[in-house]
Parts: sequence; structure tokens; C-alpha cells
Amino acid sequence: MTRPLSALRADLAGIGLADDKATVKLKSRDFFWFSPILKPLLDDKRAELVALPRSKDEVIRIAAAAARHRVALTVRGGGTGNYGQAVPLAGGVLLDMGGLDRTVAVRAGAARCEAGARFLDIDRRLRDDVGSRWELRFHPSTRKQATIGGFVAGGAAGCGSCTWGQISDPGAVIAVEVVTVEERPRTLALAGRDVLKVLHAYGVNGIITEVEISLAPWQPWAERVLAFPSLATATRFGWALTAAEGIAKKEVAVFDAGIPRLLKRLAPLVPTGQAMAIVMVAEAQAAALAEMAADHGGSVVYARPAAAAEDAAFDGKGAMPPLYEYTWNHTTLHALKVEPSITYLQIRFPPGREVELVDKIERALAGEMLLHLEFQRRFGRVFVSGLPLLRYRSPERLDQVIAMVEGMGGAVSNPHSYVLDDAGWKRTDAPQAEFKTLADPFGLMNPGKLRAWPPKPAG
Ligand SMILES: Cc1cc2nc3c(=O)[nH]c(=O)nc-3n(C[C@H](O)[C@H](O)[C@H](O)COP(=O)(O)OP(=O)(O)OC[C@H]3O[C@@H](n4cnc5c(N)ncnc54)[C@H](O)[C@@H]3O)c2cc1C
Repeated sequence: MTRPLSALRADLAGIGLADDKATVKLKSRDFFWFSPILKPLLDDKRAELVALPRSKDEVIRIAAAAARHRVALTVRGGGTGNYGQAVPLAGGVLLDMGGLDRTVAVRAGAARCEAGARFLDIDRRLRDDVGSRWELRFHPSTRKQATIGGFVAGGAAGCGSCTWGQISDPGAVIAVEVVTVEERPRTLALAGRDVLKVLHAYGVNGIITEVEISLAPWQPWAERVLAFPSLATATRFGWALTAAEGIAKKEVAVFDAGIPRLLKRLAPLVPTGQAMAIVMVAEAQAAALAEMAADHGGSVVYARPAAAAEDAAFDGKGAMPPLYEYTWNHTTLHALKVEPSITYLQIRFPPGREVELVDKIERALAGEMLLHLEFQRRFGRVFVSGLPLLRYRSPERLDQVIAMVEGMGGAVSNPHSYVLDDAGWKRTDAPQAEFKTLADPFGLMNPGKLRAWPPKPAG
């Protein structure tokens, strides 16, 4: 252990620490291995020490010690990020927020939680302890493992986004509390638009310790798998369902006919050659949903009532996992297990021209790219994003495919980069870089994720 780390360790007496090989390895990794580009770059990156605080006071002591001894500090929630966001590139301390998992307060329409609280646990508490008939508006498909702080710092959208939009949309996050990494750390309260300063910033500009998040009225969510004669008909159905305010829903996803066979438990349900949709719908509107599917030539091939779906999600009951664990990036996870050469892309479809782009991609990349679409509702409109599966051949071909999709009108966010500049840093109006100067004056937080820090002077 290097000298600054031994000195730092002495400052942390009484706080849970681990430096055994197995823990350090486990806590230094996330799901970067989805990417054949990132895997060789990040596979051997390790922290030197894992800190496991159980209270805000302990987080503040760790931040102060890191600043005093100028040691790199990387924050980790559930470690489910896909781009190596939580992988420490410069050793140092890995700050595991999992011990700060309390629900601090619940009021009508909002909950305040410690940053390390996991989505499923928050919803369970809202249901069991508070008895509030409220639930989180949306959650990533990693509901079981992902933390609310990690979602704010590294996530985007998920189940519920077909009704409630994205985490960066106004009103989604009400407030956050941030601890700075200084010799005398400060605790800052950000509310309203100021929240954007730390949103999707990969924990490079402050430690999020609490999040106040908006809630939605609880609904009994039934699950359906549907089959369609073609991807185009399934896409039109997905669009129409997402636009239909009268049908309450929590998930709308559509898949190429080649995907069901890669999702083992779903494979027997969908007739060969048919496209698939996965939907979570309010029980009372399930019949309206089936009629809408029929209008598009589709039919329900699997139906699970809300009570059984809830048992599967909260208690792991039944042979079928919750269906949301086949959507978003879980689709990629399942497919990778069957075909290890598979990786993925992230595509935003041009509004109003979704089916046109689906057709073009199907024709140009048949057998190489299998489309998986996620439907979102934002600002009164339907937005379609794709997490297509891609049979990986080489870095050059990957670049070629990205260029082809962009040439056809899709906007690709490249998930094969851990560099924050490539993923939205400063793309919002929020002064994220200015906030870093203030919250991390020594540049210790998650070093290596920004291309240059401190930024080079202009000219
Ligand atoms: C199978 C699979 C499915 C997924 N599905 C979705 C999905 O539906 N939607 C979606 O948006 N994403 C999805 N993801 C990505 C990921 O699960 C989410 O972004 C998730 O919210 C990350 O939370 P986490 O607690 O695991 O964060 P981590 O991976 O631990 O961290 C993410 C980033 O946030 C930083 N960070 C974590 N906690 C804090 C904190 N308290 N303060 C400051 N910085 C912090 C980390 O340093 C890191 O840069 C998926 C990933 C996988 C592997």
C-alpha cells in the first residue's frame, strides 16, 4: 500500500474498509464487459482500498481524508453501469455507497432517500412500511441492484419512461444533497434545475448522499408478451400504445423476430419469425391493450396478472422473472449468455420516422443488427430509442455500422466509451464543469473519465 493510502487509512479508523483481493476486484468492476472495446481496456483496473461507510458522517470523513492525502476517490452504487463509469482508473479509494440505504422521508408524490438505496427496496418500503399507494415513477431494469444515487449520476431512463420520461426531465428529481471532496467537505443542497449539475456526471463532481425523487400513484401492473407479424407492425403498435393516454402502462418494448430465441424463457412463447413486444399495463386496461394489439395484427402470447407479477418482482416467486428483466439492457445481458459475440448500440430514432428507419436498418444490416426498441413519452411526444443487439466483428466494422445508422437518420450514443465527454458532459445547460471546480478542487473524483482536467485554457 502506498504511503498516502496508509496515512489515509489511519484517518479512517472505525469505518468499514476492505483491501482483500476478491473484494477489491469485485468492487472495481461494472458491466463494461458488454463492450468488446472496453473489456481489454478496463479488465485489470483496480482500486487499492474499498471504503464501506454507513452514515453521512463517515462519507464526510472519507472525503476529507481523500482530499488531505490527495488520493483518487471513485464512488460506486450498485456497480451496474455499462460503460465502466464506476471503474477506478487511477487506483485509490473506492467509496461504496451501499451502506447508506435508508428512506429518509416520504410525502405525497415524493420520497427522499439516501443515495445507496436500491430501487426495489425503495418500492418495497413504499408498499410495506409506509403503506403509501405510491411508487417510483421509473426504474432501470436493474431495479434489484441499482441505487438511486447511481441512477442520478449514471442512468437515463427505464421502466416507467413510457409514461414519465427520463431522469433529466424537469420534475423527475426534486433535490439532491452533495458532499464535496475538500479537506473540510461541505454539504450542498441542490434543488430544481441545479440538480442537473451532478446529473449523469459519473460522480466526478461531488458525492451524492441524498436524492429527493418524484413518485407516481401505484398501479397493479399486469405483464403481457405479444407476437406480431413483422417488426414494422410491432413498432406501430408500440408507438400507438405509448401515445394512448387512456391506457396506463409502465413498459413498452419491441423486439426483432430474431431476439426471442436469445431470451431462453421467452423463446417458447413467440412463434418463429414473429416480432415481439413486452408490455406492463394497468390490470384494468389490459383488455384495451389486447384490442389495440389486434388492430396491428398482434396477439397476446403470455399474460401474468398483476399480483403474480408483483410476487415475481418482490419475492422472486414463479418460474418467470419479472418481465422488465428482459427489457432495456437486460435484453443484451440475456443474449450475450447465448451468443457471446453479441454487443449493442444506443440509437435515438428520428421522431415521426421511426418505422422508416426500422425498415432501412432491417434491410441494410439483416442478421448483423437485431433491433430492440424502447418507447418513451417526453414533453407530450413519443420518443423511440433503440438498444439493438449487434453481432460484433471488429472495431472498424463497429465504426462503420455507427456511421451507416447515422447516415440513415439515427443518432447513436456510443456505449463503447467510458469518457464522460462522449456521454453528455456539458451537453445540458448546467454548469457541470464549474461545479466540479467547486466540489472537487483537487480533481480527485473518478479521475480519467474526463478527457482533460483541469481543462486546457482556450486558444
Ligand atoms: C443488465 C443491465 C440493465 C440496465 N438497464 C438500464 C436501464 O433500464 N436504464 C438505465 O438508465 N440504465 C440501465 N443500465 C445501466 C445501470 O444499471 C443504471 O445506469 C443504474 O442506474 C446505475 O446505478 P448503480 O447504482 O449501479 O450505479 P454505478 O454503476 O455504481 O455508478 C454509476 C455512475 O454513478 C457514479 N455514482 C454512483 N453513486 C454515486 C453517488 N452516490 N454520488 C456520485 N456519483 C455516484 C459512479 O461513480 C458511476 O460513475 C443497465 C445496466 C445493466 C448491466
